[in-house]
Amino acid sequence: MTAIIPNEQHCPRCGAVMTRDGFTPNGRQRYECGECGKKTSTPPPLTAGQLGPYLQRIREGRGYTYQAVSAHLGHDAQWLSGIEAGEGGLGIDDLFALADVYGMKASEIIADYERHVRSSAQRVATKRKQER
Ligand SMILES: [Zn+2]
Repeated sequence: MTAIIPNEQHCPRCGAVMTRDGFTPNGRQRYECGECGKKTSTPPPLTAGQLGPYLQRIREGRGYTYQAVSAHLGHDAQWLSGIEAGEGGLGIDDLFALADVYGMKASEIIADYERHVRSSAQRVATKRKQER
């Protein structure tokens, strides 16, 4: 896979190239600036696979079985189960179809998911700060 984001991380404070400095507890790359000592870590990349468990929560909240939703959308019973496990490929068309079934907009699902993931990452960062 070609990296879209370059490995080089520039210091948000002084702009110097930062060096790698281990990993955060949730597996994010940590960087340290040799010029000013600023430490930072890259935000976790969001993937369609990680969206699966989130879609599962939405479905369960509506009391639907994955078999019923799969059948309703013309797929075999295991289709949605695979997506929710992060194994099946989730296409953008699939996301639109699922959003329809759940009475949501695809953009809402993605926005909620992003907020959820980003705020968990924020909580981890805050917790670490408190531990110091
Ligand atoms: Zn710096």
